[in-house]
Formats: sequence, C-alpha cells, structure tokens
Amino acid sequence: MDFGLDEELTLVRDMARSFADTELMPRATKHDRQGTLDREVFALMKDLGLWGLTIPEEYGGAGLGNQALAVVLEEINRACASTGVTLSVHNSLIGAPLRKFGTEAQKREWLPKLATGEVIGAYCLTEPNAGSDAASLRTTARLDGDHFVVDGTKVWVTNGGWAGVFLAYVRTEPGTSRAKGVSALLIPANLPGIRVGKPEKKCGIRGSSTTEVEFSGVRVPKANLLGTLHDGFKIAMDTLDGGRIGIASQAVGIGRACLEAAVKYSKEREQFGKPIGEFQAIQWKLADMATRIDASRLLVQKAAWMRDRGERCSQQAAEAKLFASQTANFCADECLQIHGGAGYTDHFHVERLFRDARITEIYEGATDIQRIVIARAVTA
Ligand SMILES: Cc1cc2nc3c(=O)[nH]c(=O)nc-3n(C[C@H](O)[C@H](O)[C@H](O)COP(=O)(O)OP(=O)(O)OC[C@H]3O[C@@H](n4cnc5c(N)ncnc54)[C@H](O)[C@@H]3O)c2cc1C
Repeated sequence: MDFGLDEELTLVRDMARSFADTELMPRATKHDRQGTLDREVFALMKDLGLWGLTIPEEYGGAGLGNQALAVVLEEINRACASTGVTLSVHNSLIGAPLRKFGTEAQKREWLPKLATGEVIGAYCLTEPNAGSDAASLRTTARLDGDHFVVDGTKVWVTNGGWAGVFLAYVRTEPGTSRAKGVSALLIPANLPGIRVGKPEKKCGIRGSSTTEVEFSGVRVPKANLLGTLHDGFKIAMDTLDGGRIGIASQAVGIGRACLEAAVKYSKEREQFGKPIGEFQAIQWKLADMATRIDASRLLVQKAAWMRDRGERCSQQAAEAKLFASQTANFCADECLQIHGGAGYTDHFHVERLFRDARITEIYEGATDIQRIVIARAVTA
C-alpha cells in the first residue's frame, strides 16, 4: 500500500496548483461577482491540457485517469469552485462516458474537440419533475427515419450556456416510466429547436454556467445514440460514479481553502491580548477540519483508484461524496465562525467558500441519495 503520489501525479498536481495559485486565486471573487468565468481561463485550461485530462492521447487528450483528475480538481477547487465544477462536468460527465460507451466514429467526432475545449460538454439528466428520482424523466425521443425527434426540458444544466454538445437522457420507448426505456443521446448544441435558458442566479459557484435547456422537435441523427437503445440509464448511473468522485474532490479542495484561511486568520487576529489561534477552542476546530479533510481525500483517492482499475465503485464514490461534501460544509462553517463578523462580510473570501461549499451536498445526487446508494450496497 502506498499513500504517496507517484512522479506523474506529483507533476500533474504541481501544474494544477501553480495554475490555481497564479490564475484562479486572483480571479475567484471576480468570477463569483460577475457570474461567469473569464474567457482567458478557458484558453489557459486549453494550454495546460486540462479540458482533455482524461481523454485518451490518441484523441488529443492527456490520457490520465480518475486519480489524476481528483488531484487536479482538488487544487483547482481550492482556488475557484466555479472553474472546478466546469472542468469536472466536462471531463467526468461527458468525456468519460463518450470514451467508455462511444462508437469509434463518435469518439473521432467529439473527443478531439472536447480535449482542447473547442467544444464544452454538458450533461442533461435532471428535469423539472425528475431530480433525485431521475428515472422518472419525461423528455421523449421518437424515432423518425434516420433521426430521433427530441422534446422536453432539462434543468440545472452545468455548462448549459457554454456547451457545444449535450449528453441528454431521453425516453425512447413509449409507455415506459422508469429506468427501462431511457437512452443516451449526443445532441450538438447548434441543432434547430434547442433553447438555452438564462443563467440561473445561484447561492454559490456563481461563475459557473447553470441553465435550463429546452428541446422542441430537435432532429438528432440516429448515429448519435450513445450505447444501447433503451439502456441508457445505466450509462447515466455509471457516469455519476465518476462524477461523484469529481464533486468529492471539489469538496476536498473547498475544505482545504477553508482550513488555510482559518489558520491564517487565527494567527493574525488578536483578542484578549493574544492571537485567537492560541485558544484551545480554535485549535480544536482546526484539528477537526484537518482530520476530516484528510479522511475525505483518502475516500476520494480510494474510489478513483478503483474506477481506474475498472472496478465498480458506486458505494465508494457515494461514500467519498457524502463524507467530503459534509466536510466541506463543516469546514466552511467553522472557517466563517473563526473569522467572526468579518467572515460574514465580503471583506474576506470565506463567505464565498461558505456559499460554494453548499452545492456539494446537492448536485450529482443529494446527501440523502448517497446514503441510499451506500445502504443498498451494504445491505445487498
Ligand atoms: C448548481 C446546480 C448544477 C447542477 N448541474 C446539473 C447538471 O449538470 N446536470 C443535471 O442533470 N443535473 C444537474 N443539477 C441537478 C442536481 O443533480 C439536482 O438538483 C439534485 O439531484 C437534486 O434534485 P432536486 O434538486 O430535484 O431535489 P429533489 O429531488 O426534489 O430533493 C429535495 C430534497 O429531498 C430529498 N430526497 C429526495 N428523495 C429522497 C429520498 N428517496 N429519501 C430521502 N430524501 C430524499 C433530497 O435529498 C433533497 O434534500 C444541478 C443542480 C444545481 C443546483
């Protein structure tokens, strides 16, 4: 057993850390306030090969695995969670299923463009009436000659406003109501009949793009079916195993940012004639934060390691997301408390961390849903 990063992962981590420190830290508050990412960030991520981190080299990517993605996402989210989720969704919810389930023609068409960020990917599962209960989705795709005709509305689509391709889960078998009869379709964003809604105004990760996407009579070539007809829900769930590792990494990154801010402030702020960090009450908060962050990272790396080995890791990914997201929120709360009144204002970035942390317990399966996945596995 080896808990260290090998040479390749160390290099990748250092590259991501340097990018995060020099380019994202100074922009994170701006991203939050302007409600979008700076365009330069997209170009910088292209130069560093981050869009294609997990895309195989033969399609123009870096060919790295989930462990590398987890390491990179921790660093990026420590600086800017809006950039972090953009990259996580692109790599783990679009690049990964295309790589795993795509035909050679689909891979040749999409992966090289995804690898450079020329095309950004978005994952469309959630609907107004199908959130945690994703299998109740109602968007339909009716076969008409060589095309599917897609009708329906997807909500809360990350990267929705920037996407060049949507991976949408649609009901292809009429009369079915649950997971059976759902298929995965690659839908180019420039097809007629697609309407992308206004950016949602969010509590946190405000620099990321979240929109509604409406499909009205959109004609999608049959060749854009990903995987097997009527069997796409399995792709959605398998993909979420990887996505949850990404969000858990995001949570670890946010937790670390909170701990670093808390340590710094507790050394600087003096009350009762000494730095507040000398009070044991503050030290215990820091100790609990550090312990939970380290435990979260171990869960993340274990799940990512299993996924890289091709092992099923639904339980481990859910455990990582459950624990890491609760840790991020615990750390954000303690960090804000340590900052006292100043933490509640925009004098410090900790109020942003507090808002950003909140989403990690909601998307890609809320906390209760992770518990359901874990409980099912342990009682099976
Ligand atoms: C910023 C943002 C980005 C997102 N990005 C994407 C994206 O890119 N693609 C996409 O498809 N979706 C995306 N989502 C959707 C997200 O995955 C859902 O919001 C999430 O799955 C929860 O669904 P819901 O919001 O409908 O909540 P609901 O399902 O209505 O749940 C409400 C509450 O009830 C609880 N609950 C529900 N069922 C149970 C149960 N059986 N047992 C116990 N408790 C339960 C939940 O845990 C939650 O606390 C995004 C959401 C947000 C806010």
